[in-house]
Amino acid sequence: MLSLHLDLGERSYSIHIGAELLQRADLLLPHIHGQQVLIVTNTTIAPLYLNTVRTALQQAKPELKIEECILPDGEAYKDLRHLELIWDRLLEAGFNRRATLIALGGGVIGDMTGFAAACYQRGVNFIQLPTTLLSQVDSSVGGKTGVNHPLGKNMLGAFWQPKLVLADTLTLQTLPPRELAAGMAEVIKYGLLGDLDFLEWLEVQLPKLMQGDQRLLAEAIVRSCRCKAQIVAQDEREGGVRALLNLGHTFGHAIETEMGYGEWLHGEAVGCGMALAADLSQRLGWISSADLERTKALLQAAQLPILPPPSMTVDAFLRAMAVDKKNIDGELRLVLLRRLGQAELVTLTAHDHLHACLASALE
Ligand code: NAD
Ligand code: MG
Repeated sequence: MLSLHLDLGERSYSIHIGAELLQRADLLLPHIHGQQVLIVTNTTIAPLYLNTVRTALQQAKPELKIEECILPDGEAYKDLRHLELIWDRLLEAGFNRRATLIALGGGVIGDMTGFAAACYQRGVNFIQLPTTLLSQVDSSVGGKTGVNHPLGKNMLGAFWQPKLVLADTLTLQTLPPRELAAGMAEVIKYGLLGDLDFLEWLEVQLPKLMQGDQRLLAEAIVRSCRCKAQIVAQDEREGGVRALLNLGHTFGHAIETEMGYGEWLHGEAVGCGMALAADLSQRLGWISSADLERTKALLQAAQLPILPPPSMTVDAFLRAMAVDKKNIDGELRLVLLRRLGQAELVTLTAHDHLHACLASALE
């Protein structure tokens, strides 16, 4: 098992990564203060892993009252209506302020459970058991929780840190390959934006990671979490450096918006977005053509797209990118690569290079 500590003062917590952690009641119990536990999961994950977690806890502490809330699977259900189902279960079971919520699933379940915990009786403990690569390296770290509104993704939410994160790498064995690749986009992102050593390690290990090598996956996850944890510890509420985590995301969001959510996975859009960000960085004279090729090769080794969907247009990109949250006073702000392993948030004053970058990707 590999571990790291996220240092956020009194909101600090540990992240443990390794195989067979779902059954480690000894790790969970110190963070369960009352007798009441609600495990939140979905219809895909419940038959795979719910019993493991439930049985381990019940055997280790028979007096625990363990309830379940099994939500339908999908981003489409990450809304207030389905959030309410979690609160319904808590109230029906008579759970009090010492209740603990356990999120067992990917980012959708983690975000919803965290938000439910933040609001229930003004805040109860919660624990993350992330089961997708994306949630193990990204959404379970940093305390952003929430749900979607019909007019915008993740528009309702709260910062609410978990008490513990257990990332069981064995769960990745049942993950569909496309989801594994999508999570790998965020892993590569950490190398590109802040850690050249990690990037070089990924260049060597990606084939084995994609085949599900447990030891290497644990190492990739811990290095990714360390990178995110360092950035979050400096900027918990996203006033500054946390923006660097958006490398590839401005282009990526444009693809997701234009294609409609669900067509491309988020990680696929971000993968392509990072290829475009690297291309633009090269046009600005920041990284070399050789570094651009290295970046693209890495993304391709993770089976991620490096070109946008052919139905996109330059105008569609510019339109979608113009409404990005990072923009200030109508000026386009983007995270680009000053060099491999070092990202920077820049304000684009002239748009010629951006036009050329998009036009050539869409040729
Ligand atoms: P997801 O939670 O929808 O999971 C992807 C799919 O894999 C689902 O169908 C799920 O049921 C299935 N699945 C999960 N674990 C499995 C397993 N071990 N075996 C088989 N199938 C499994 O998607 P995701 O990519 O994990 O998360 C995306 C969500 O995370 C989005 O809603 C996004 O907004 C959010 N997110 C939040 C943050 C944050 O900081 N809070 C960061 C990034 C993303
Ligand atoms: Mg992302």
